[in-house]
Amino acid sequence: MFEKNQKKVHTITFGCQMSERDAETLTTISTKQGYQRTEHPEEADLIIINTCCVRESAENKIIGKIGQLKKLKQSKPDLKIAVTGCMIQQPGMVEKLKKKASHVDIWTGTFDYHKFEELLSLSEKGEKVALVSEDFSNSKEVAPLAEKGKLKANVNIMYGCDNYCAYCIVPYVRGRERSRPKEVIIGELQALAQSGCKEVTLLGQNVNSYGRKDNFGYDFADLLKEVDKTSNIERIRFTTSHPKDLTDKLIDTVANGKHLCEHFHFPFQAGSNKILKAMNRKYTREYYLERAEQILKTIPEARLTTDIIVGFPGETEEDFEQTLDLVQKIPFSQAFTFMFSKRSGTVAANLPNQVPLEVKKSRLQRLMELQNSRSLEWRLKMIDKEYEVLVEGPSKTNPDLLSGRTRGNELVVLNGNPGLIGQLVMVKIVNANSWTLFGSLV
Ligand code: SF4
Repeated sequence: MFEKNQKKVHTITFGCQMSERDAETLTTISTKQGYQRTEHPEEADLIIINTCCVRESAENKIIGKIGQLKKLKQSKPDLKIAVTGCMIQQPGMVEKLKKKASHVDIWTGTFDYHKFEELLSLSEKGEKVALVSEDFSNSKEVAPLAEKGKLKANVNIMYGCDNYCAYCIVPYVRGRERSRPKEVIIGELQALAQSGCKEVTLLGQNVNSYGRKDNFGYDFADLLKEVDKTSNIERIRFTTSHPKDLTDKLIDTVANGKHLCEHFHFPFQAGSNKILKAMNRKYTREYYLERAEQILKTIPEARLTTDIIVGFPGETEEDFEQTLDLVQKIPFSQAFTFMFSKRSGTVAANLPNQVPLEVKKSRLQRLMELQNSRSLEWRLKMIDKEYEVLVEGPSKTNPDLLSGRTRGNELVVLNGNPGLIGQLVMVKIVNANSWTLFGSLV
């Protein structure tokens, strides 16, 4: 229940789980400053737009969203608008956006979240503020508080990235890789478990290199083992696994874990060795295939998901066919597919032989059609079998039904009463399409 006259915060997030986690952090800072969360922007006193810059299309959407808020600000001049995150961290971006969006009160990037409280109180005094530090090393961690009753949460185990894949802007806007000590992570997970959280996703740009640079003396597999034993969280997921660092030790740890979900999200990005080299991915298609086979040999019920980019500069039809071939060879239950998007400041933005948009679109279409048929094949095989499902809430497509996820992260729609929300139940699959399983309680 809202108290009368209590200020309210509404948060809009773009981008990945890392960005969702940042948005949660900023929202938590606002709640400590007396704001109540609201789902309705029109009743908010503070709106936070946490941004993403991984693709140009995301940036265009964000610019549109900022523009839409102008009217609301005109009708409610005391409303504060904060625009934060990866997109703002890019050099020169605030100056560019400020010209179009004078109604924004706070601009801040990914290295200054620990100053958000200060920025918020300055804006409440009527100041317009912008803070985008260039150096991540002065950044201090602010972890979100465990929100009571929240079923699922994202927890960073590390920040930043050192891999410099040629297409990716992340290392430029999130700084160098640094890991959080296991005691801090386990403490956060235990607090989440106590507050009712059932599922946690451990986040890192490359979780497989966790702790390596910080010389912790333990690696990601060791962390998982300990988290499995001591966190009291029912389900533990992790993302993203860079294929180059995916060890047998990690696969064996997942195989022997109790709460560790048998799901590996490890992006292959391209199927041609020439393109993988140009992308600076540091593995070959043969190596990737071998890793996928090793996972399925050790954990036959494991689910594999991936990210794929089409139309990287220099990609020929033959290179693209190598990508299709990997999708044929590996039983991915799902693939996130993207057209290459030029990001200023990355190596790939200046490479010759950029692929025309029409060619990229047609390749993306062909890839999606193939993956959809592969996803369907995979899901049809699950019919008549029973799976553990965490019931998450009403189904988005039919609120009379419930929806949840298997340990392999497949979406399941089932019938059952709302009292099951938050519980782990056994479900028999009775039907499927490429994206959804339909089941009934066992
Ligand atoms: S591993 Fe590559 S794709 Fe992933 S965040 Fe780092 S640079 Fe980007």
